[in-house]
Amino acid sequence: MKSYKVVEFGQPLKRIEEATPTPQGGEVLVRVTAAGVCHSDVHLWEGFFDMGGGNKYSTEKTMNPPRTMGHEIVGVVEALGPNAKGAKVGDRAIVYPWIGCGTCWYCEHGREHLCPTPRALGIGKDGGFSDHVLVPDAKYLYPYGNIPTELACLYACSGITAFGAVKKAVGEDAGKPILVIGAGGVGLMGVRFAKSVLGREPIVADIDENKRKLALENGAVAALDPRDKDARKKILELTGGTGVGAAIDFVGADSTAQFGLRALGRGGRLIVVGLFGGTFTMPMPMFAFTGVQIVGSVTGSPAEMAEMMALVTSGKVTPVPIIKRPLDEADKTLQELRKGLIMGRAVLIP
Ligand SMILES: [Zn+2]
Ligand SMILES: [Zn+2]
Repeated sequence: MKSYKVVEFGQPLKRIEEATPTPQGGEVLVRVTAAGVCHSDVHLWEGFFDMGGGNKYSTEKTMNPPRTMGHEIVGVVEALGPNAKGAKVGDRAIVYPWIGCGTCWYCEHGREHLCPTPRALGIGKDGGFSDHVLVPDAKYLYPYGNIPTELACLYACSGITAFGAVKKAVGEDAGKPILVIGAGGVGLMGVRFAKSVLGREPIVADIDENKRKLALENGAVAALDPRDKDARKKILELTGGTGVGAAIDFVGADSTAQFGLRALGRGGRLIVVGLFGGTFTMPMPMFAFTGVQIVGSVTGSPAEMAEMMALVTSGKVTPVPIIKRPLDEADKTLQELRKGLIMGRAVLIP
């Protein structure tokens, strides 16, 4: 088995050859056919998340290197543990990576993605920057119908993250226009789901001209630069003077969250998804003056994964642009993503 691992934070991923594992108990061995490179991989690789005010959250304990990253995995079932049920050799599947401990309140109530002691693939357990991955149970495998393999993998993180976030706008946006902040891999998927879940194309804000262009080509009704001093005025013009019903912040920086809040109409909801980092303050009376809500969104539950896959396999979601790279370019691709040079989503093919 060949994998690209984080051995030391901030250092190039190391190519490591080791014996292909034999699945035990209910485990399933999946031969990886594609693995997406996610922006959170950049933070995991760096070894920390920026908590603002000079504070950092270390990924040392969660990652425990050496660790194979890659949580957007698609593959073919190659071997089954003696107790594995619900899959057979040769099945093609997307792997749901947000695996919990299996025994806590969250895991027992269908909210594994919120488990406080997770075993997420590509983070706490070895993931998909490899030719094989060991999955703890066949229940984490989802069929993907006729979707191309390299596109299917994206639904494991950028897909479910965007879907989970857009769903948090349902019923909260009062049918008003919504704003998507950040048109990277996840944000573009958010543009797609806004159309298929809410029935409306969103306004997009991004500081990068190329990403704004890509957003317009991918279904945004308008795209603007949030640094533009007239940006808020433009949003008011686009929303008949009332502000957006919901703003989804796929960047998660202090500046983008502030921008999202300022774009909201009364009673609007800011949904924070991105992990860029930082901190922001808001005058307390604004909650009671305007009725705005601020909510966080963490990927999505196994049930939401099933719901999203039903939508996707029915052909109701238009694909996002993909850049295919050989697995051997794992480190190069990660560095390009870090520098903001990837347009759409990069996918590694073993
Ligand atoms: Zn991700
Ligand atoms: Zn749990």
